[in-house]
Amino acid sequence: MPSDSPLPDMEKLTEKIRIWARELGFQAMGVSKAEVPERDVEHLKQWLAKSFHGDMGYMAQHLALRANPAELHPGALRVLSFRMDYLPAETETVKLLGEPEKAYVSRYALGRDYHKLIRKRLTQLGKQIEAEVGEHGFRAFVDSAPIMERPIAQQAGLGWMGKHSLIINRQAGSFFFLGELFTNLPLPVDEPYETNHCGRCTSCMDKCPTGAIVAPYQVDARRCISYLTIENKGSIPEELRPLMGNRIYGCDDCQLVCPWNRFTKSTKESDFQPRHNLDASDLVDLFNWTEEQFLERTAGSPIRRAGYESWLRNIAVALGNAPFCDDVISALNSRLNSPSKLVKEHVSWALHQHLTD
Ligand code: SF4
Repeated sequence: MPSDSPLPDMEKLTEKIRIWARELGFQAMGVSKAEVPERDVEHLKQWLAKSFHGDMGYMAQHLALRANPAELHPGALRVLSFRMDYLPAETETVKLLGEPEKAYVSRYALGRDYHKLIRKRLTQLGKQIEAEVGEHGFRAFVDSAPIMERPIAQQAGLGWMGKHSLIINRQAGSFFFLGELFTNLPLPVDEPYETNHCGRCTSCMDKCPTGAIVAPYQVDARRCISYLTIENKGSIPEELRPLMGNRIYGCDDCQLVCPWNRFTKSTKESDFQPRHNLDASDLVDLFNWTEEQFLERTAGSPIRRAGYESWLRNIAVALGNAPFCDDVISALNSRLNSPSKLVKEHVSWALHQHLTD
């Protein structure tokens, strides 16, 4: 159908899109205008002014685009926000955090990288829509552009922003990815989710291992273990290292303690299932991976993003927090002459922890 053909009934089309989205593995979809409320833009500005973004300079860039998402895609009228649950069934979470010789990897990073999968499905959905209505323009995004995806998801009715600043859904908790499809079609918008169900709960703030949630809805990334182990390429502040426990890539604590995650649904996506025993590995085994093994075993995984040097740095910190044993000491000693100054410094710190125990 050519693009100048009359548009079909938008209500009916939206219902069809919801069905197609479910068939493509998304658990929910919401529609909003291609706009971000002023209060959310102001919140971002204040967060940046406090330097809570640390070295994530990209968060400060393109502020105008973040505030005006329609500029990302010419003619965009609506943003379709999608939820895809990622928690694999039967992975240990709290138990693993209590086993300091084991590695804890954030649950979203145990399998294959979600970016590729979600973008592919959204592109497929965009094509299905065009097959129905003709070319009216769409563009898929998954963490790939300066988009304030959480406020947009809230506008689309997918949930409210918890005090940890993640979106929570009453029926599904918060262990999910978000993706967006910008479209030039005037689809009917959903009701924004304006009720906040956190109430007087402050569990995520109280239980954050490093005290990174400094006030409701205010996460100081410079203290957040996700930032420290993934985005941060430099040294991890010494005072925070003992607080990190065995968390070597990301952290889920604010979600694990959230009462709404009693309602989390596990995923059946094969891409999100743990690979290379990452949900049950000993720290020492992971620390002994050569760079070749790291590259081979993290191919197609979000962990590749952090790089081998950060991988060793993070595990060195966790080994410094692990119980004293010969295997831990010899693994650390084996990296004491690492060509990386960063790794050497963290290994020395870890050995020092054991020597002063
Ligand atoms: S732990 Fe409590 S305060 Fe934090 S997001 Fe969940 S409900 Fe809200």
